[in-house]
Amino acid sequence: MAQKNLIIYGAHWCPDSQRVKHWLGEHDVNYVWKNVDDSQAIVDEMLSKTDNTNLIPTLDIDGTILVNPSDDELAAALHEPEEAEINYHDVITIGAGPTALATAIYTTREDIDTVLLEKGVVGGLAATTDLIENYPGFDEGVEGLHLAQNLQKQAERFGALIELAEVSSIKDEGQYKKIITSNGTYGARAVLIATGSDYKRLNVPGETEFYGRGVHFCATCDGAFYRDKRLVVVGGGNSAAQEGMFLTKFASHIDMLVRGDHLKASEVLIKKIESSDKITVHFNTTTDEILGEEGKFVTGVRATDKQSGESRVIATDGVFVFVGLNPNTAFLADSGVKLDEHGFVETDRTLQTNISGIFCAGDVRAGATQQIASAVGEGATAALMIREYLEEIG
Ligand SMILES: Cc1cc2nc3c(=O)[nH]c(=O)nc-3n(C[C@H](O)[C@H](O)[C@H](O)COP(=O)(O)OP(=O)(O)OC[C@H]3O[C@@H](n4cnc5c(N)ncnc54)[C@H](O)[C@@H]3O)c2cc1C
Repeated sequence: MAQKNLIIYGAHWCPDSQRVKHWLGEHDVNYVWKNVDDSQAIVDEMLSKTDNTNLIPTLDIDGTILVNPSDDELAAALHEPEEAEINYHDVITIGAGPTALATAIYTTREDIDTVLLEKGVVGGLAATTDLIENYPGFDEGVEGLHLAQNLQKQAERFGALIELAEVSSIKDEGQYKKIITSNGTYGARAVLIATGSDYKRLNVPGETEFYGRGVHFCATCDGAFYRDKRLVVVGGGNSAAQEGMFLTKFASHIDMLVRGDHLKASEVLIKKIESSDKITVHFNTTTDEILGEEGKFVTGVRATDKQSGESRVIATDGVFVFVGLNPNTAFLADSGVKLDEHGFVETDRTLQTNISGIFCAGDVRAGATQQIASAVGEGATAALMIREYLEEIG
């Protein structure tokens, strides 16, 4: 209970005056007692505060006047708003993708109290990837979800705590960093930014209107809706090639629209695309508009051949867009953490940002190679650097 300047105007014979005094005594609140029977001056003083309302007990709490308050009203008037509860931990990772899970395996195994804050799917983008063929140690490849679940189990076995929360900002408060989330406020001695990146949009008419009704960004998540249907895949990079190949499992035919004049994918993938009888690649082609009936589903894509200038409509049941990724760094806007010109987080060789105690690893880091093996490697490195940092600050 907060201690405030409190005057009670009352009388010994008044039961409510006695009740209030009793309540204050029980709650260890000091007060000045002014008996209205003692002098007219006390009565006048009280009346000057109550606009001449002549009732006791009257309380003056730091200038706020209460007339014969109930116990609840007393408690409310004297209650100091408590500072929002803060959950303190040694290490907090923002995100729970492969990077953060790898960090947590290392830190928790050394008994460093670690909490992972995740706004979406534990395992990040890896968890939504169908088959990962290039992650070392799996000769037949590994399902993304399986890998993500194993990383999670391993981290949790050592004591990592994963909490569902979207981080909206972080603030450097010296030894502790304050992390504001949808699930309350956290404090951490060290923070790891491991928020990865999100799908880039085409920003063409129809993309937002038909999102989820023919427009998709994740083949693993939504590909199965298009069994024996026609699809358009937009993009010419590794992800587009990989996801395009994955979609051949379901689609009857795929038109792949590529802005440039070649695919920017690995040789293996390019060969697979070229030899697939389900995929037709259209180079030098822009995607201008996604078409469909208002409130219904996608029916086509308007595309232009950049060389001939010819614009045409390609009929399709769905469009999967894979044109790159944007770093998830909007929440760092007022944090003081330095970003590069594309919005990725800059770090030094120890994976520390320009703010002491705030580290960054994985896809969201400037210069990252955007691979799960690298993400996991960076996660492990970050853990070792964080351990050193915690030892230094004591
Ligand atoms: C379609 C596709 C296929 C791929 N295939 C392969 C492959 O075959 N082999 C390979 O090596 N790599 C592949 N990759 C890349 C691989 O998925 C990434 O390199 C890896 O997932 C990066 O891990 P990360 O932990 O850094 O980020 P992510 O996996 O992106 O995880 C970041 C996590 O942070 C969370 N997050 C973001 N913002 C917040 C916030 N404000 N608050 C709380 N949580 C937040 C996100 O929800 C996410 O779960 C593929 C990527 C894509 C998109």
